[in-house]
Amino acid sequence: MRPDAVRAWRDQETVRRLSRYRDIIDGKRIAKYLLAKDISCETPLDDSTDTLWKVHSQLHDEFVGYVHAVDAGEPRHETEDGRSFLHLKNELAWRILRECHFCERRCGSDRASGQTGWCKLGPESRVSSAFLHTGEEAPLVPSGTIFFSSCCLSCAFCQNEDISTNPNAGMPVSAEDLAKLAERLGQDGAININYVGGDPVPNTHTIIGSLIHQMSNITQLWNSSMYGSSEAMALIADLMDVWLPDFKYGNNECAKRLSGVDDYFDIVSRNHLTAYQNGEVIIRHLVLPNHLECCTFPVLEWVTENLPDCMVNIMAQYRPEHRVRRNPDDYKEISRRVSTEEMKLAFSKAEDLGIYWRTVS
Ligand code: SF4
Repeated sequence: MRPDAVRAWRDQETVRRLSRYRDIIDGKRIAKYLLAKDISCETPLDDSTDTLWKVHSQLHDEFVGYVHAVDAGEPRHETEDGRSFLHLKNELAWRILRECHFCERRCGSDRASGQTGWCKLGPESRVSSAFLHTGEEAPLVPSGTIFFSSCCLSCAFCQNEDISTNPNAGMPVSAEDLAKLAERLGQDGAININYVGGDPVPNTHTIIGSLIHQMSNITQLWNSSMYGSSEAMALIADLMDVWLPDFKYGNNECAKRLSGVDDYFDIVSRNHLTAYQNGEVIIRHLVLPNHLECCTFPVLEWVTENLPDCMVNIMAQYRPEHRVRRNPDDYKEISRRVSTEEMKLAFSKAEDLGIYWRTVS
């Protein structure tokens, strides 16, 4: 155990901002995905997609009230015929997969039938590694981290290019396999199940399917670049307890040039708001060299205004990797590490804004 992973919980602000997560660790509250299994879905799952989304919206409202009630000490109830809100989400995830719009690239490929989209993934999810991670933010350690292959962004400086650009990295997993993996990580001492990659977004169907088979009261954590579609976010928002989102860019232009996606700031800020309204959030912001004015400062300002109770990890570990390392002349402004002076400016901005920030080595 890392010493600061123990010390983190002596900090009252950390406890306050991650109070539900802490209570799940202590067995005082129930992980949301388990509570989603308590909400009955009476509508047949072969109904039209429009109808299923309407039912999803109604059950979401019921679910939010139920979580508050159980958190306040009211007893849980069970579904009557075993078809739950979680089963409805699973069905909707597979419908999304048939004309894939798990992320805002919205390729429309029928991945369920074997077509692939921009991320080069078909129906199968692959896990490149899964282990007890001791390098995550202190309150998350030890984290049962599951790395999925492929990604929906194309970051020029990706530090995980071996898995993010290779959809065939690792081993294929079914929903049942993934559940066994998660249960084993919990038995080995993980205090959360951490879905990352690459990115978990293209694997939403497998992750939701696995939650039908998982049974442990353990925090579910979404560790993502947050380029998911509004529909994927609606499915996941009720199931994740803690969010570990990346917020890289403060505008759409830097994102287009460095990560190859449109409307980044609009989509990612929207998804951060959804996460914040539905769970506890530790934002990761990787400081890029020469991107303070255009990215770091606007991100920190937006967070201050919109997510006042979240935590922020301001990260200094940028390295020129992947396309930046191979073609530094194409990416001159980020072809070096971030300087000490730049990090001081980032920290100073966070202090001025009153952000509750921490760094993790
Ligand atoms: S996850 Fe995104 S990139 Fe992959 S096929 Fe679906 S919409 Fe396209």
